[in-house]
Amino acid sequence: MSRPPALERSIASVDGRTALFASHCRGCGRVLFPVGSVCAQCGGADLDRQALSPTGSVFAWTAVHRAAPGWKVPYVVALVDFPEGPRIFAQVDAAPEAMRSGMPVRVAFGRPPAGQPDDAYCFTVEPS
Ligand SMILES: [Zn+2]
Repeated sequence: MSRPPALERSIASVDGRTALFASHCRGCGRVLFPVGSVCAQCGGADLDRQALSPTGSVFAWTAVHRAAPGWKVPYVVALVDFPEGPRIFAQVDAAPEAMRSGMPVRVAFGRPPAGQPDDAYCFTVEPS
């Protein structure tokens, strides 16, 4: 699995499971994804890294019907709200017919959604 450099510090193991990590600003309390070195809210640099919950809820989603060669369409992408605060863009391992706003989802690692290329993802979410 290859990851964009911005995500290298945002995916790691904690308590025997792989998790998404975010930056927590000690100055203003904002939790930001991906992990960074400066707070996008207040500009502060006093940040620590924290694991995000493995579950969130779909804020909004759409089905993609045209894609690069090698991608099976349609596939679903969504903005997912995590309890700690970040709203994260992710591919959803679910059919468009199964989607609804507000549905609970779980973060998944280690495999791409069905029919998608191995090198085109870092993590996905799936209905929980
Ligand atoms: Zn801040």
